[in-house]
Amino acid sequence: MPEPRAADPDAISQAARLLKAGELVAFPTETVYGLGADARSDEAVASIFATKNRPSFNPLIAHFAEVAQARQEVLFDERAEKLAEAFWPGPLTLVLPRREGCRISLLCSAGLDSQAVRLPSHPVARALLAECGIPLAAPSANLFGRISPTLAQHVAEGMGDRVAMILDGGACEVGVESTVVELLEGPARLLRPGAITLADLERVIGPLKARLSGPITAPGMLESHYAPQAAVRLEAEHVGPEEALLAFGPRPLEGAAVTENLSPSGDLLEAAAHLFAALHRLDATGAPAIAVMPIPDEGLGLAINDRLARAAAPRPVEAFAESN
Ligand code: AMP
Ligand code: MG
Repeated sequence: MPEPRAADPDAISQAARLLKAGELVAFPTETVYGLGADARSDEAVASIFATKNRPSFNPLIAHFAEVAQARQEVLFDERAEKLAEAFWPGPLTLVLPRREGCRISLLCSAGLDSQAVRLPSHPVARALLAECGIPLAAPSANLFGRISPTLAQHVAEGMGDRVAMILDGGACEVGVESTVVELLEGPARLLRPGAITLADLERVIGPLKARLSGPITAPGMLESHYAPQAAVRLEAEHVGPEEALLAFGPRPLEGAAVTENLSPSGDLLEAAAHLFAALHRLDATGAPAIAVMPIPDEGLGLAINDRLARAAAPRPVEAFAESN
């Protein structure tokens, strides 16, 4: 199992190489240790969810070295520019509209048309991001349901055997996750409180809408979660000629108007990587229904089935405790 490695320039170069090759590297930020992966790679982002044992997909923050890189992927309005100017690099995350042609994996957005972005201030995170030159998706480097790691040793104990490398940059200064602000249409909204306070934010852009009620969560995203126009039919054992088929495995059902196979070889990581893009493509065909073949309820299959169940039976907004 990899021991944490002191984040000297050599270790940082090696970490950057691993990340560019699609591997996972844990690294320090000023908030908590992040489990980093190439944010543009569907497979690398899928492996984050697999590594964390997360039974559902939540949108992940893409981390950048420079604001200019973030501007290439998401749309900054005037409020976003002001907040970036005031608090970046630092523990503030902005949820912004994805640009046309955004290269960040749709899995990183959990299928939404918004993407969360941040420029961390920790010198090791900054050096690593500068060296790789790619955006890094990086949720907290803990297993699902465990507390967030603020020391490299916490990461080693929790998931040391599951990552290619752990960069040790000492204790995280802030120790709680970044403040998350949504800047989409309408008023700015605080989705998650953090080290940058509401008062700090309001000094820069004026009043924000309060976050939704309930525990500190990811609920902001549930409300707007991508739901296909088409009806979604799960556990399909046959498919009609007007239906679109979301297939899985080597024997896709025959007779559908159009088929997307999440993984012909039956690989759950590959299936997770392709899930959102495949749903979008099938929905865009205008088919009245999407039939979904059974997907094993194990490993990443849990997260895939959770997402498909929501698509099949849209639920009202519901708050849940953040525990990823
Ligand atoms: P973490 O990566 O653990 O710091 O958590 C990321 C948090 O950012 C999630 O829990 C969400 O609350 C929030 N978030 C990220 N992306 C989005 C998005 N596109 N829409 C709404 N909330 C988001
Ligand atoms: Mg977390």
